[in-house]
Amino acid sequence: MRLFDAHNHIQDERLLGDRGEIVRASIDVGVAAMVVNATSEADWDAVERLAASHPEVVPSFGVHPWHIAGLAAGWQERLVKRLRRRPSAVGEIGIDHFREGLDRGLQERVFLEQLQIAVEERLPVSIHGLRAWGRLYDLLRAARTPAEGFLLHSYGGPSEMVGGFADLGAYFSFSGAFLRPGRESRTAVFRGIPRDRLLVETDAPYQALPLELDPCKASRGLASGALNHPATIGVTYCGLARVLGINAEELAGQAERNFRALFRKLLRDPARAP
Ligand SMILES: [Zn+2]
Repeated sequence: MRLFDAHNHIQDERLLGDRGEIVRASIDVGVAAMVVNATSEADWDAVERLAASHPEVVPSFGVHPWHIAGLAAGWQERLVKRLRRRPSAVGEIGIDHFREGLDRGLQERVFLEQLQIAVEERLPVSIHGLRAWGRLYDLLRAARTPAEGFLLHSYGGPSEMVGGFADLGAYFSFSGAFLRPGRESRTAVFRGIPRDRLLVETDAPYQALPLELDPCKASRGLASGALNHPATIGVTYCGLARVLGINAEELAGQAERNFRALFRKLLRDPARAP
């Protein structure tokens, strides 16, 4: 099975060890490509280095809503420059109504400026919308969205909003942390997502998996404690396939087609479509 991690942050310094090892461990379990998302200007170099040494890494550059305070003047120009240096997506960007202390007005301005850059650069976008799906929908509906499409990563909104987002060009990624007990209503939403808009993500090192429940023994001891690892993505494929009532191979085929559709301009060998 060829696996695709639609959203992670393996540049994160909390993931100990050599980055190459992390990518190689992921390739070993079948990962053909992963989108590595920067979160602020401070980690753009690290993400770019990963992409330079690993063709499986699709880099994504942007400013996450947690990191909007203290943005240095001229960041927009520097973002555009960075996006043009190599095939890249825009992300992680978005709005967050869960974490306290974030200026909502500033979040929206920074989000919309980056969305506009993605439209102008004709690039797909990865979006974070924690507890803010209604407001996010209003913003997306009123703005231009990239023709390439956008990813609502770890989609946690209600079923009723899926159709509206999909009409605007959304893809939806399922995080393995949704498999935790008590989150059944969230997983159920994924049964109603159009199959051609479904993706799978780890969000590593965030969203540690409930490995004690690993139904397919797919984690191979690679993640422990609070940190997630991209090589555990088999657990998430297996869990989502069960939620959908299909087999993991069928899900993998669909997720590959969808990943290639959304990130088509950015794939390099060996992830490039045959
Ligand atoms: Zn993320």
